[in-house]
Amino acid sequence: MNVLVINCGSSSLKFQLIDSESENVLAKGLCERIGIDGSLTYQPAGGEKVKSEKAMPTHTEAIQFVIDALTDSETGVVKSLSEIGAVGHRVVHGGEKFASSVVINDEVLAGIEACSDLAPLHNPANLIGIRACQKLMPGTPMVAVFDTAFHQTMPEKAYLYGLPYEYYEKYAVRRYGFHGTSHSFVSKHAADFLGLDLNNSKIIVAHLGNGASISAVLNGKCVDTSMGLTPLEGLVMGTRSGDMDPAIMEYIAKKEDLDIAGVMNVLNKKSGVYGLSKNLSSDFRDLEEAMENGNKYAAAALEVFCYRVAKYIGSYVAAMNGVDAIAFTAGIGENAGIVREKVLAYLGYLGITLDAEANKKRGEDFVISTADSKVKVAVIPTNEELAIARETVALV
Ligand code: AMP
Repeated sequence: MNVLVINCGSSSLKFQLIDSESENVLAKGLCERIGIDGSLTYQPAGGEKVKSEKAMPTHTEAIQFVIDALTDSETGVVKSLSEIGAVGHRVVHGGEKFASSVVINDEVLAGIEACSDLAPLHNPANLIGIRACQKLMPGTPMVAVFDTAFHQTMPEKAYLYGLPYEYYEKYAVRRYGFHGTSHSFVSKHAADFLGLDLNNSKIIVAHLGNGASISAVLNGKCVDTSMGLTPLEGLVMGTRSGDMDPAIMEYIAKKEDLDIAGVMNVLNKKSGVYGLSKNLSSDFRDLEEAMENGNKYAAAALEVFCYRVAKYIGSYVAAMNGVDAIAFTAGIGENAGIVREKVLAYLGYLGITLDAEANKKRGEDFVISTADSKVKVAVIPTNEELAIARETVALV
């Protein structure tokens, strides 16, 4: 079956058409600047990537252009819409309502809407994408795959904040976690690749991208993760602060004469390695280069990032009373050997030893610990689109 995977933002929409039997990507692309002017980037497998300007007043036009491109007589990859068996939608927040992927119906749409309070930037955009697809592809089954679902197995002690309990009851204030599709995919794949029995394993997944999070996966189930009510908690990220003393908010608000929105903007967009490097960059390629050229702020930013990752790994070893394997994934986890090296250097007490040669590799699954390392460490490229396609097929 061919599955169209959609990841819809407020002004952009990423898509992939995946053949679920071969798991090959037939075509992929991106609509940008929806509601502003609009452009479509489209690339069929083995073909050229082509970008064209197209008027996209709403997501409905954007999805119509995607369908037109996929069914185009020259560069298309299917003859007609009937060759698309299902659509899998990435949905950011499923709250406590959705602990797994679901086939979309009116009740599910209402459920996603009810979680919009918790993800006001993302869920409404996800809903717009789903509704536009329903309009243009009536009769095609659609599945919602939630970023939060994998983390719903966290125990109460991991998801409750030390706040008045009624905030949890009245406002659903608790830790949810994000990147769940990636943590689920990578933990399963790591067990497979490393020859571990997933149902009898302790795996820590470090999803280190521009947004970054870590999870503790015990016997295939998430027992803790670093992001919280929102994706701001946890690791130091590209531009997000991660964990900090909450009292800093009031202190900075007074010093800089900012309101709550102003402080939140700083914590989300001007902090992390970007802020630490004095606005040099949020991209680890730039930071590495700057560090090599003697930039002390870039060096400090990298060190703060790696130290935080190492501390989280240590705390998850405690949470699971041990660890069998650590998997690095996402843009930084997959590509930045220096980050993996620095993080693992803090974890020698676990009996981890790095294979420095293997750590230079890129672009595939590979082990970076030595044969005698007490904990296996691997790089496992994530593939959220494939994970969404798999979930979609399983449900339809
Ligand atoms: P993601 O959010 O998973 O797409 O990750 C994007 C981030 O990965 C970028 O902002 C970079 O910091 C990092 N990244 C991507 N490629 C490389 C690379 N070759 N070396 C170091 N970092 C990289």
